[in-house]
Amino acid sequence: MRTQVAIIGAGPAGLLLGQLLSRQGIDNVIIERKSGDYVLSRIRAGVLEQGMVQMLEEAGVAERLHREGLVHDGFSLAFDGRRHRIDLKGLTGGKTVTVYGQTEVTHDLMVAREGIGATTIYEADDVVLHDFDGASPRVSFVKDGVRTELACDFIAGCDGFHGVSRRSVPEGAIQEFERVYPFGWLGVLADVPPAAHELVYASAERGFALCSMRSATRSRYYVQVSLDEEVEDWSDERFFDELRRRLPEDVAAAVTVGPSIEKSIAPLRSFVAEPMRFGRLFLAGDAAHIVPPTGAKGLNLAASDIHYLSQSLIEHYRDRSDTGIATYSQRALARIWKAERFSWWMTGLLHKFPANTPFEQRMQRAEFDHIANSTVGSAGVAENYVGLPY
Ligand SMILES: Cc1cc2nc3c(=O)[nH]c(=O)nc-3n(C[C@H](O)[C@H](O)[C@H](O)COP(=O)(O)OP(=O)(O)OC[C@H]3O[C@@H](n4cnc5c(N)ncnc54)[C@H](O)[C@@H]3O)c2cc1C
Repeated sequence: MRTQVAIIGAGPAGLLLGQLLSRQGIDNVIIERKSGDYVLSRIRAGVLEQGMVQMLEEAGVAERLHREGLVHDGFSLAFDGRRHRIDLKGLTGGKTVTVYGQTEVTHDLMVAREGIGATTIYEADDVVLHDFDGASPRVSFVKDGVRTELACDFIAGCDGFHGVSRRSVPEGAIQEFERVYPFGWLGVLADVPPAAHELVYASAERGFALCSMRSATRSRYYVQVSLDEEVEDWSDERFFDELRRRLPEDVAAAVTVGPSIEKSIAPLRSFVAEPMRFGRLFLAGDAAHIVPPTGAKGLNLAASDIHYLSQSLIEHYRDRSDTGIATYSQRALARIWKAERFSWWMTGLLHKFPANTPFEQRMQRAEFDHIANSTVGSAGVAENYVGLPY
């Protein structure tokens, strides 16, 4: 088998890259470890920056997004019961975010890929990357018990944090930066109307809580929990009680309780691997970096990496220029580190850290007061939340 670009991973990064390349006539094959149904069953992000929406338009997969996505002009920060609205649209000269589930983005990209007849190999085991430091890289994998080899010009490692691509890079060639937070998020998805029509990020004495949504009838709620908590110990009743205790009174009163259709605990981590190119191997999305979900940047960063990577590859094939390839890592990382900073900062502002002293707790409150009483303070939050320019 041969292709121009071998893409490892059929998450949003891999599928979006495949779609953008296919539309430019660049042949690509996606190799995915899981089945398509499994990929679609993972409930993850749901807030899209305007830049990501534009990329989905470019990829020709934004029709349902524009029909069903909820455009949000703002969101609220709450601190000890006080609420402050960040007017995204007013503070950024008209920019907004769109609420549309990652599962829906993935679904739309999969349908489009099927429509153009591009190849995706699902349930590929034991994926191995070969010779990406030379001119003729290859990817091999086992499908239905048979090892197959795919020769290519480039490999795009879009296989998430636990994927094989980053691990295939020789140890001395990669530098990793990491912060692991001493808590996680317990998330519940429920088919009940959201408590508020915009997202509410709340910091309370008992810990952080987030009211989010996937549609006008589907809510996504989170509460900060310690890392030793088990999902099984959280009945729906216990979850909703805890959620309401952490929210401002008016928001708590508007929470509609309903049976969860998904419940899970996600640990929080900040992580960056540098660089993001090794010869003819590129890393993109969670394969290269992780942010805590505070700030809604993970999925959006995967899309912005694909913006730089797809442009670089298109320039290589169409314009015979490798300038984009040579500067991919540098350009992607410049934006990644700013999103890492914002996610780390928002996590620090809103969570209860077990080791925080009373001084640090006062600093959190002072930070909130500054944002709530300063247009400049609020504008900084808004500018980052809608997404920095590509
Ligand atoms: C539980 C959870 C909740 C999240 N919530 C939010 C949120 O609220 N807001 C937010 O902004 N972000 C959130 N994120 C982050 C966001 O979902 C990710 O940033 C996004 O999925 C990154 O896309 P990706 O394509 O880079 O990686 P992924 O979505 O991880 O896709 C990688 C793909 O590669 C495949 N793969 C892995 N290993 C191999 C292999 N060896 N061979 C072949 N294929 C392989 C995987 O099966 C997967 O399909 C969440 C993440 C998790 C895990």
